[in-house]
Amino acid sequence: MSLDLSDAEREFLARVTKFADEHVGPKAQIWEDERRMPVDALRAASKAGFAGLEVPETLGGFGGRFRLKVRVAEELSRHCFAFAFSLINHMGLAGKIARDAPEELARKYLPEMLSGDAIGCTALTEPGAGSDFSAITTSAKKVKGGWLLNGKKAWITNAAHADLMFLYAQTDPDAGWRGVAGFLVDGREDGVTRLPPFKIMGGHAIGAGGFVLEDHFVPDVRLMSLPGDGFKAAMAGVNAARTYVAAMCCGMTEAAITLAARYAANRTAFGGNIADFQGLRWQLADAQTDVEAARLLAYRATLSVESRENAELDAAHAKKFAARMADAHLPRIMQVMGAAGLRREYPLGRQIACARIANYVDGTTEIQNERIARALFKQAEKG
Ligand SMILES: Cc1cc2nc3c(=O)[nH]c(=O)nc-3n(C[C@H](O)[C@H](O)[C@H](O)COP(=O)(O)OP(=O)(O)OC[C@H]3O[C@@H](n4cnc5c(N)ncnc54)[C@H](O)[C@@H]3O)c2cc1C
Repeated sequence: MSLDLSDAEREFLARVTKFADEHVGPKAQIWEDERRMPVDALRAASKAGFAGLEVPETLGGFGGRFRLKVRVAEELSRHCFAFAFSLINHMGLAGKIARDAPEELARKYLPEMLSGDAIGCTALTEPGAGSDFSAITTSAKKVKGGWLLNGKKAWITNAAHADLMFLYAQTDPDAGWRGVAGFLVDGREDGVTRLPPFKIMGGHAIGAGGFVLEDHFVPDVRLMSLPGDGFKAAMAGVNAARTYVAAMCCGMTEAAITLAARYAANRTAFGGNIADFQGLRWQLADAQTDVEAARLLAYRATLSVESRENAELDAAHAKKFAARMADAHLPRIMQVMGAAGLRREYPLGRQIACARIANYVDGTTEIQNERIARALFKQAEKG
């Protein structure tokens, strides 16, 4: 199964690949050494037109389909999963503004998102609520002309530099998920404080961090998802996110396999080539088989997201399988390279950290299993 792209989409993907070859691959380890989110590269990628992938041409973007976003995420992840996730999150907010924001907001914010002068993020998670998203406590209180937001967001991709965020807050604590609404927040305005980004085991290019909101005023026009719709919108968006994360795991793991195969083909031991040891050959062969299977699931989910049919289940299968696959195979691929696999010249350490990250973002592996089990038992109850 492949994802057919139009000529224009193929050309877009080729430009992304060239950008990744020149500006991402050679820099990724330096960003990791410096434990920083490379906002300069993110702005350069935006200026190259990549932030507008989902934005219609009439609004200054490219107008690509979801399948192009998936392929871009997969290709970029061959070079740096963390940077890919950062760019994909940024382009996600640009696409959302183009799709859902009133015209005056789109006019104001889209140009700076597309140029990368403003960086975007999506903020659901809080220090006290991750998987249980309906338990968020950041509050939105109605006041004259708008809303006052108070609370704290944590583990937000791009938070290290983000200016604009699509932020979910609770308008009525007694209403549970029905009270959750979505706001476009401009972090450069009063009442928003950026927290220092998290120091993590790897993948710092993601720029994961948080914000504190203290009596932050948001005008009515920036309430983009009404109470109740906010939760549903977040859940619908998460199926797409799970799908591209699955494809990202494929790109990253396949790049590691290629690297290890090249290394093994040139390394000798006991008078022969280590690539001739069947145990090692089969490690890589097994990893490649699982990448192929994971990619099929990811591409199937891509078509389901595009057609809006069975997306929740297909995305859950794809993400669960791909994140586990990367997590399981990357240490074995590293083993093929012997101690050399540990060296910073090689990406395997970063990739292992990013495989761990893949098991958390956009719903943990356990939450995917819950989705799958729920569907399974619903079917069983029907007889
Ligand atoms: C690098 C990074 C970037 C991120 N980017 C963003 C972002 O841009 N925006 C954003 O909003 N969030 C983001 N997140 C947060 C991510 O979505 C959460 O980490 C995730 O939802 C899990 O929440 P948690 O970490 O609080 O774990 P918890 O919810 O506290 O879960 C702890 C453990 O319990 C398990 N668990 C929880 N509920 C169940 C259940 N019902 N059944 C079985 N097991 C369960 C979990 O799977 C996990 O193993 C990011 C996280 C990371 C690591």
